[in-house]
Amino acid sequence: MNQSDKIIGIDLGTTNSVLAVIQDGLPVLLPVNGERLLPSVVGIAPSGEVVVGTPARNQWVVAPERTVRSIKRKMGKAETVGMAGQTYTPQEISAFILKDMREAAQAVLGGDVRRAVITVPAYFNETQRQATLEAGEIAGLMVERIINEPTASALAYGYGLAGDQHLKVLVYDLGGGTFDVSIIELHSGVVDVLATAGDNLLGGDDFDERLAAMLADEFAEEHDIDLRQHHQAWARLLRAAEEAKIELSSAPFAEIKLEYILTRDRKGYPLHIQREVERSEFEELIADLLGRTITLVRKALEDAKLRPNDIERVLLVGGSTRIPAVWELIVAQMGQEPHIEIDPDAAVALGAAVQAGIIAGEEIDAILVDVTPYSLGIETAQVGYGGRLYADLFTPLVRRNTTVPVQKSQMFTTIVPGQEQIRINVYQGENPTASQNVLLGDFMIEGLKPNRADGLSEVTVNFQLDVNGILDVTVVERQSGKRVSEQLKASRQRLSPDDIARSQAKLAAAYTEMEADETFDPGVAALLDRARKTLEQPDLSAGLADDIAGAVANIRHAVAEEDDAQVEAYCDELIDLLMEVEG
Ligand code: AMP
Repeated sequence: MNQSDKIIGIDLGTTNSVLAVIQDGLPVLLPVNGERLLPSVVGIAPSGEVVVGTPARNQWVVAPERTVRSIKRKMGKAETVGMAGQTYTPQEISAFILKDMREAAQAVLGGDVRRAVITVPAYFNETQRQATLEAGEIAGLMVERIINEPTASALAYGYGLAGDQHLKVLVYDLGGGTFDVSIIELHSGVVDVLATAGDNLLGGDDFDERLAAMLADEFAEEHDIDLRQHHQAWARLLRAAEEAKIELSSAPFAEIKLEYILTRDRKGYPLHIQREVERSEFEELIADLLGRTITLVRKALEDAKLRPNDIERVLLVGGSTRIPAVWELIVAQMGQEPHIEIDPDAAVALGAAVQAGIIAGEEIDAILVDVTPYSLGIETAQVGYGGRLYADLFTPLVRRNTTVPVQKSQMFTTIVPGQEQIRINVYQGENPTASQNVLLGDFMIEGLKPNRADGLSEVTVNFQLDVNGILDVTVVERQSGKRVSEQLKASRQRLSPDDIARSQAKLAAAYTEMEADETFDPGVAALLDRARKTLEQPDLSAGLADDIAGAVANIRHAVAEEDDAQVEAYCDELIDLLMEVEG
């Protein structure tokens, strides 16, 4: 196969992103910037350089205002984020990550790479999927297919590849920012998603936050200072909480030790945190969050009309499934041991590569059938008994968990004789009250020519939902057969080619822009620069990175306070730390 036809598989995660391709018929991971799991963090270094991955993650602790993480949570929203004084859309921030992945693939495969399969949580709506496509486009990648993460995991396990298999699989995917559960049926080489449920605001980040909040509360009690109000201190606390959480997956205790968490209290003393956390204490902190995942597992089973013992395989995906309590809850709920043969961090990307290989026509054999996670429909009104008008009703055309692609049509009648226009409001959701759902788009149909005896007109509304979960709506007037509406892209905020070009230029500019550093004495500036370079080393231990970041924060603080003695003391501390790294 020509390398430029190669399609890459990308797990664009909240916490980490992972790149995979098919090589010699097998899915393999390709490191990006030297990392198997590329932290999904983007930053602009003080030198003006764009940094992605661990360097950005380290920078976030000292300079959150120049760094963006967990952008996936904002995908599809109209919000922008600030980074080093510039504002960026979520698509643009994601594009920085995708650009590095594309370049890493090009370096290994040795050609131009322009095509990708990207995974999204099954629970992503049309708008979020559309934003993912746009992020790819900005990064110069044509997104051939967007597939659901749990479906990708099943593909990674090879389920669906053997023609004679007939299996029901439950995929429990708990990552850094999102939770998904899917029930998949595999038969005759087809992967069929029977049901999905999830919460795209629930994951490991929340566990970190619970633990950090507990420490912040204790700190507030003791010192009457809320660490949440101090950007850098809170960032360090979150980072330490995550490290402790990970340690608690394999040990019954973890120690959180943060020296100089704040440089001084009101009397001018440095303050520290030192606290031992027990596994059981942590489990209690997150018990309700884990309970929510189990409720969603039950909901998916119900939707699929299955009982736990109808499920033949349970797959655990996502870094947070390493928490022992997750395992225990799944065993209790499902009555069976889950499978974890494939690294839970890698399964989704490997599955994306399998799907990419299928599209590129490589020697892999499976067909993918997906479902829509939401019902899609329009707002309607009805005249009830006694002529009373019931408005704001939600009439779904495509029901939740319908296999895609799908096309559905339904006829509607106007309400008032002689009515010449209709507003079509397209919603997604499950609430019978239309306005309680998410409005995907609205448009007017004008110039209707009522020609029924009762003065009403009839229109047919047609929904077409493609495999990427993107919806097209068309409306046709029944009597004349005339198409009275333009096609409506239900996904909001569709970027125009001009928008994409502008974003591409903005990204290009970000790579060249250099910015003057703050007003530091040249010696201090050089030292901070050395620290920055050290923080960019991917193999730097998290503990040292944290100490260096802490020293840098203290120096900046002391400079701001014009406390020369403190500046000198912290510079000495930083020099010692840097010597430790540099040997
Ligand atoms: P993912 O989005 O699948 O890359 O998962 C990332 C999340 O998994 C982050 O919140 C990590 O802190 C978390 N994680 C990674 N390893 C572990 C572990 N051993 N125990 C608990 N959580 C972990």
